Amino acid sequence: MHEVKPARIPEEIQASLERILPKVQKPGRYIGGELNQVVKDWNSTRTRVALVFPDIYDLGMSNLGLAILYDLINQRQDALAERAYSPWVDMESAMRSAGIPLYSLETKHSLSEFDIVGFSLPYETLYTNSLNVLDLAGIPIFSSERTTHHPLVIAGGHATFNPEPMHAFIDAFVIGEGEEVIHEIIDTYQIWKESNSSRLALMDSLSNIVGVYIPALYEARYLPDGKFDQINRISEEAPLPIMKRIVSQLPSPTTRLIVPYIDTVHNRIPIEIMRGCTRGCRFCHAGMVTRPVRERKVNEIITALEEALALTGYEEIGLLSLSSSDYSYIIELVKAVSERFSDRHISISLPSLRIETVSVELMNALKDNRRSGFTLAPEAATEKMREIINKPVSTDQVLKTARAIYSNGWTTIKLYFMIGHPSETLDDIQAIADLCKAVLAEGRDMVGFRAKVHAGVSTFIPKPHTPFQWVPCDSVESIRAKQDLLKRQLRGKGLKLNWNNPEETMLEAWLSRGDRRLSEVIYRAWENGAKFDAWQDHLKYRVWREAFDSTGLDFSFYTHRHRHIDESFPWDHISTSVRKKFLAEDYLWSQGSQTRVDCRDRCFACGVLPTFADLRRENPGDIWQCPEVKPRRNKAPSKTIHVEDIRVIS
Ligand code: SF4
Repeated sequence: MHEVKPARIPEEIQASLERILPKVQKPGRYIGGELNQVVKDWNSTRTRVALVFPDIYDLGMSNLGLAILYDLINQRQDALAERAYSPWVDMESAMRSAGIPLYSLETKHSLSEFDIVGFSLPYETLYTNSLNVLDLAGIPIFSSERTTHHPLVIAGGHATFNPEPMHAFIDAFVIGEGEEVIHEIIDTYQIWKESNSSRLALMDSLSNIVGVYIPALYEARYLPDGKFDQINRISEEAPLPIMKRIVSQLPSPTTRLIVPYIDTVHNRIPIEIMRGCTRGCRFCHAGMVTRPVRERKVNEIITALEEALALTGYEEIGLLSLSSSDYSYIIELVKAVSERFSDRHISISLPSLRIETVSVELMNALKDNRRSGFTLAPEAATEKMREIINKPVSTDQVLKTARAIYSNGWTTIKLYFMIGHPSETLDDIQAIADLCKAVLAEGRDMVGFRAKVHAGVSTFIPKPHTPFQWVPCDSVESIRAKQDLLKRQLRGKGLKLNWNNPEETMLEAWLSRGDRRLSEVIYRAWENGAKFDAWQDHLKYRVWREAFDSTGLDFSFYTHRHRHIDESFPWDHISTSVRKKFLAEDYLWSQGSQTRVDCRDRCFACGVLPTFADLRRENPGDIWQCPEVKPRRNKAPSKTIHVEDIRVIS
């Protein structure tokens, strides 16, 4: 790596940028100044936070979590938030040659000048880019090498529910939802800064915040056979386990969204209509870690959309959630949006719909959005496999829904599948091809040769905190054989197939269930050129394999090993509130093809309610989709109640 010169003042950075920007692709990524960006006075603001998405601007600008934090921090009088993204390879090389450190788009300050640098880590293939960001900013990569003169480096996002592989680089992880905790981190930082105390004192204070994990306050132990044993506290005060943070009610949606000059992956207003999912798909990390379900009211969403449309001028809105058709008022919402904004030709995207909840009424409400195609995610093509993964829907239902979609005027159906599920055989893969053809046949009946089926086939990766955290990941050879079968079968008019790189799957699989020893692997891979691992053309699989070899670790230990039901996991000390016992039971149920119904119909006592009983009690009614709870009569309310204390109020 070229050494980046120490931070330079914004005026120098700006002057250097003017020389290099005409020579790089898409300079609009690097200039800031977009509509709705917030620029505060640097010198008079007490705490400065850089929010970083460690991939290019085009992707990072669509990250809703960072947009929310940007808005919340900038609403404070005493703090400012600015943005930074990974420069693309041409820009990075130009910046290193010109000695320009990674800077914020708003004021062109080097990231090393900020008090807090906060990474969004929604997925594991951003890890090497995060190291690259630190290096390019001139911030020591290892947390242990930072002093009181360096920024506090924090990270949040779904990947941090197993923070251990990144433990060496991040000072503090935010586990769970950030809307409240970010304020507590800033408040704690301000008190610490005025106290002139040590960096360790800052870490101790931060560890008192619920939902904050400071890896330096713990050490990991391993068994003689290399398996993880346990996490021990170094500091007696450090909490164990570390409980995730949730907000009891979703705060008002962010409406002052920054409008980029260039095309980004989603050029739309994103409004989260609900958080969490009650379905319990066994492969789904997000569905397990974001419980409980909390919904927004229709009028709150409509008001937010009016504000956001006025502030941005976008023509598309995304009504986001893990399963949008499960939102209790979905028909009412889509109708209200269509009616309210009918004169503006606004298109609505509902990215995730359950097959069994797609009604004719919903299709009618969405009829103005037919050009974008209709997306369904059966995930598996045989009923047996759908029972194993707990997405029970019959093939008849899939075909009936497809027929209704085509007959309501859509010509393209996108079908999402996963391959590599536990117990899967080539017959299950053949069934994917057969189902796609059967759906196309329904389309031909309805709309003739205009009918299309686009099959998107990803590969299952066993994720921590899910019922499938015990299962081995499919091998590269097996994934390739399954993909080849689909490539042979899904050819011809009206059929299109997308698949992903099995090597990228392996990387994500190593890292998602990794332990602290993987920090060294990540560091060596980055040192030897790994970055932009989520980009197929840039993934350096050989470099990663060599990084494993050089540390003496066997990558198949992390991916292809069947874990015993009693095995301790490196992420066991991070609590999502869903009990490991519940996950283990669900895993055993999957082996007998036993399914669970939507937990809005029957609560399975997964652990969420006992953990967050007080929050649920403070928020009665249907904002939460878990049953209401109250303590037993004659029993003093306790902060945490046990499963047997729950009484469902009908
Ligand atoms: S507590 Fe019950 S209703 Fe709530 S998420 Fe868990 S299983 Fe579902």
